[in-house]
Amino acid sequence: MAFSSILGQDKTIKRLRSLVETGRVPPAMIFHGPPGVGKFPAALEFAAALNCTRVAFTEAAPAAAEEPADGLFFAEPEPAPAPAPAAAARPPESPAPAPAGDSCGLCRSCLQAKSGAHPDIRVVDTLFQAALLDEDESANLKVDTVRELTRWAQQKPMLSDWKIFVIRDAEALVPQAQNALLKTLEAPPPNTVIVLTTSKKNSLLATILSRSFPVEFAPLPRAVVAELLSARGTDPAEARKLAALSRGSMEKAAEAGGLMLRLAKLRPGDPARAFKFAAGLPRDSHLAREEVKTLLELALGRIRAAWRAADGPAKNKFTALLRRTLELRRMADRNVSYYQLLEVTLLESERAGLRLEDLLDTAAAEANG
Ligand SMILES: [Zn+2]
Repeated sequence: MAFSSILGQDKTIKRLRSLVETGRVPPAMIFHGPPGVGKFPAALEFAAALNCTRVAFTEAAPAAAEEPADGLFFAEPEPAPAPAPAAAARPPESPAPAPAGDSCGLCRSCLQAKSGAHPDIRVVDTLFQAALLDEDESANLKVDTVRELTRWAQQKPMLSDWKIFVIRDAEALVPQAQNALLKTLEAPPPNTVIVLTTSKKNSLLATILSRSFPVEFAPLPRAVVAELLSARGTDPAEARKLAALSRGSMEKAAEAGGLMLRLAKLRPGDPARAFKFAAGLPRDSHLAREEVKTLLELALGRIRAAWRAADGPAKNKFTALLRRTLELRRMADRNVSYYQLLEVTLLESERAGLRLEDLLDTAAAEANG
């Protein structure tokens, strides 16, 4: 566990490390970028690095040595007028090695961060909310949850220099919750950092965006997606194929994997296979919609390739199909039935001679080429 575990985001990680190193940390930050590119793990690494004491934790050591009260690596949340001699103030015996601006993984703070039990690092998401409010997990983050967060933000840190709240998938905050959060952002308590992670930045109020320091995460290089998939046990050849379909997102790679799996179950030549395929979409409507969008984009890639290769009357046929599919792709962002969208896309593609079974394979081949 350290920033080195975040792959494919070198520029962004360099920026985060420099914030940790200087201790000039904005009270509110937005980690934004496509889904599945490492925003949330990076937020956890950032929190760990901020609170790292760089003093290796040993059970036998006296309490004072475990937790030096001051003179840590980080000075103040606000830039100090004269730079504090941070390095000199660190205990000279401090043995924990860590690259500048990163966590050591050995101090008490790092060990607690690693186990997910750090009292000053809190992840706020729908799962956490369900436990907090003692109710079933819901899709939205409610105002009651933000009120709790606000209450904690007013308290002193328990163990470390910084209290860090990571609001995961912050687009889930309902407008009322965003307004409640805004009050905290307007008058941030000292030594508190609120990190919002989101792949839908525009779902957040303009007033929240303008008060939060933006940290952008880019799509992952294809080789990184393949590497991450292989590390998670995907067969290397399959990992390369999914990486080609992923558009730099681990989430999209997983969706493509799901689509392929469902395609493999269909019998070739079954006239109802488009219908059966649509019926196999995830129950969760958000996931289903995202998968349909992925499939539509894959279909677009396939149709574009067919359009480029065609001439004469066939070219006109693919021009019409391309236009129609682009229109369907635009509709997918609106509130229309994704189920119907999918069926129409598949049926129209098949009518033009593009079989459902071809969509993914050729898209992968094209992406590779
Ligand atoms: Zn540490």
